[in-house]
Order: sequence, then C-alpha cells, then structure tokens
Amino acid sequence: MTQTPIIIARGIGKSFHDFQALTDIHLTVNQGERVVICGPSGSGKSTLIRCFNGLENHDTGDLNVNGIEVHALAQGMRQLRQDVGMVFQQFNLFPHLTVLENLMIGPLRVRKQDRHTAEATARKYLERVRIPEQADKRPAQLSGGQQQRVAIARALCMEPSVMLFDEPTSALDPEMIGEVLEVMVELAGTGMTMVVVTHEMGFARKVADTMVFMEAGRIVEVAPPGTFFTAPASARARAFLDQIL
Ligand code: ADP
Ligand code: MG
Repeated sequence: MTQTPIIIARGIGKSFHDFQALTDIHLTVNQGERVVICGPSGSGKSTLIRCFNGLENHDTGDLNVNGIEVHALAQGMRQLRQDVGMVFQQFNLFPHLTVLENLMIGPLRVRKQDRHTAEATARKYLERVRIPEQADKRPAQLSGGQQQRVAIARALCMEPSVMLFDEPTSALDPEMIGEVLEVMVELAGTGMTMVVVTHEMGFARKVADTMVFMEAGRIVEVAPPGTFFTAPASARARAFLDQIL
C-alpha cells in the first residue's frame, strides 16, 4: 500500500527567547494514521502540534502539512487552518453563541458556505458526536464532556484532512472522559488522520498506530503501541510509563 504523507517535519526546531522548546524534530504522519504523543509536562508536545497548524512558527527545519510548506509568513495559513482541525484542553467555544452557531461560524466565514449548507453540516457533525438535541443551547448550559464534543464537531465542520488533539480530556471531570474518548475512537474508525497528545493510555492502546514519546523538546522514541507499552526502547520512556500506568 502506498502511504500518503499528510505531515512531514524535517528537523524542526523552535525556541522561546533563549529557551529551546523543540530540537530537531523528525516526524511523518501518513493519511489515515493515528499518532499518539506522550511525554512529561513541558516536553514540547503542545508546541509541536501547534506548529502543525501554524499557531506557533518553527524557527528551523522544514514542515509540510497537507502539501503546504509552513513558514513564518506562509501565504497558505488560511488554507492550513482549514485543513487542520484542532481540539484544545479548554474547549474554546464562543460563550455568546449557541452550539449550532458555534459549529456554523467556520463553514460560513472560512468555507463561505451558505447558511443552509452550513446548518446541514453542523447538524451532521452534532449527530456524529451524539448531541443533536443540544443544538440551541449555549456552551455554559452543557457539561464539560458535551462542550468538548461540540468542540470536536466544530473542528469536523471544516472537513479537515487531519485532526490535532491537545490533551482533550485533561480538563474534564473523570466521569466525562469516557464519552469524549468514545467519540474520538469512532472518529478514528472513519479513517481520520489524527495526532493526539494524551496520557490516556487505554485510548492509545486501542487507537494508536504509532506512539511518540517526547522529552525535553526532543522525540525520544517512535514505536508501534505493542512495542512501546511492553518493551519501550528508552529508559526514559519506561520510567514515564511506570509513573502513569
Ligand atoms: P507540553 O505540552 O509537553 O507540556 P509545551 O509545548 O507546552 O509542553 O511547552 C514546552 C516548553 O516550552 C515549556 O518549558 C514551556 O514553558 C515552554 N513554552 C511553551 N510556550 C511558551 C511561550 N509562549 N513562551 C515561552 N515559553 C513557552
Ligand atoms: Mg501541553
């Protein structure tokens, strides 16, 4: 089977003033691949995936996302934001808009859909995350788990080529983690290309094709989950897993 790369990072580096947050990152994510990134707090996980959708600019190396060369002053930034969906730890919904309006705003403003089409898209993805009945509520009237599912649906409304998740369940009460992970597992089942930063290792075992372990701004290990969880190559990954499992 021929692999189609969606994300190609070649030696990317990124510093904040004199602090080196990412060093020499090489990573390829192929179409349909599910990559789970883990590692200690401060290891650069968020910075890395924020580079993938242009929220951060890398300083060195080359980054190509869905055929777009990502540079500091990329002309393709608008296209990049359309192609790459992102779900954050904090849901970042617009509090003054209803759920449906939150979902329609991207398709209306960025994809230039007419209202009828945008609403149909919004309802389709609200159905997908199993809360069609919440369409007319405002975010504050929903539980955290429901808000995060709205955030996932909102990203999907842009029909992205790849979905990035940055610790999507870390801000949730424990009883709501499952419903969000379930939606993500279903999304994986549709063949979506996904890069997920998470410490939910049950999810990772179930869904990941590839595990990436980061420490101190570097990728220390890349391995299939079978290998990563049973016999991680690096002592640092082993110590990390011992701590969280
Ligand atoms: P992780 O997501 O793995 O916890 P981050 O990518 O958020 O790690 O951060 C990596 C390092 O970069 C941390 O030491 C963090 O303090 C630093 N960092 C991240 N964003 C900024 C920023 N905007 N300004 C300065 N330092 C930052
Ligand atoms: Mg982070």
